[in-house]
Amino acid sequence: MLYVKAPAKINLTLDVLYKRPDNYHEVEMIMTTVDLADRIGLESRHDGQIKIVSTDNFVPDDHRNFAYQAAELLRNTYGIKEGVTISIEKQIPIAAGLAGGSSDAAATLRGLNELWNLNLSLDELAEYGAKIGSDVSFCVYGGTALATGRGEKIQEIAPPPPCWVILAKPKIGVSTADVYGGLKLDGIKHPNTKQMIQAIETNDYPLLCASLGNVLETVTFKLHPEVVTIKEQMQRFGADAVLMSGSGPTVFGLVESEPRVSRIYNGLRGFCEEVYVVRLLGERNPLA
Ligand code: ATP
Repeated sequence: MLYVKAPAKINLTLDVLYKRPDNYHEVEMIMTTVDLADRIGLESRHDGQIKIVSTDNFVPDDHRNFAYQAAELLRNTYGIKEGVTISIEKQIPIAAGLAGGSSDAAATLRGLNELWNLNLSLDELAEYGAKIGSDVSFCVYGGTALATGRGEKIQEIAPPPPCWVILAKPKIGVSTADVYGGLKLDGIKHPNTKQMIQAIETNDYPLLCASLGNVLETVTFKLHPEVVTIKEQMQRFGADAVLMSGSGPTVFGLVESEPRVSRIYNGLRGFCEEVYVVRLLGERNPLA
């Protein structure tokens, strides 16, 4: 059995520039990985089938699973006869804005590259990733990057200054399509992506905190007011900066001082069941 880690991502910025003729939104976002990860196990099968086994009943066990699509894509493209059992130990909450499904697909691509001796580069794997979903390319590389296009064009940036990240996920799942569908581009407040890149590259933590921004917040806040409450609570308990990740509903807080982490964690646990304390990973994934 080959094991591959599939880390979650958070968005330090998420901007939507315009709607494209192909109906996708042109985005500009800075993403970084955190050390909350699913574990993907890959084991060859001689019957040529792709099977998904998961610890979580909400994870689809057929072609709807992004990890299944990753295996099918490589298998068909390279005429592989073998099948594979993909075991997914789920740690990343589902439909949370943390790219769990995309990261599982990316880890499957990296792992099968090894298991099936395909010798593909991360760039080639990221290109296959883009065929599965907009966030899969980023997840193939991990680390910290500016993603443009519909999210599949990746430019690596330096790891951000280290800090704690507190993730709080309200008990709702959010449909990314609904949130993008509800976005009105007129009069939205765009985050300052350039300033965020500068903050990361100069290791300027206060500037990083001041540069967080996500244009989807207002849409998700309207659909699910409990997300606003969590953001306000995290601010009140003393996080240095707070933002919703992706299309939500997970809200993350950045914290530099360790004693404050437990205060915020304990405060949030009072009314939110799913709270995680993690670190920024910052560095890129190795090839599996
Ligand atoms: P993003 O941040 O990329 O928008 P997300 O974190 O909001 O993603 P996911 O956890 O990837 O959302 O789940 C979105 C949907 O994808 C779920 O409703 C689920 O049915 C489907 N899905 C497909 N493959 C997986 C997988 N391996 N793990 C979890 N969900 C998956």
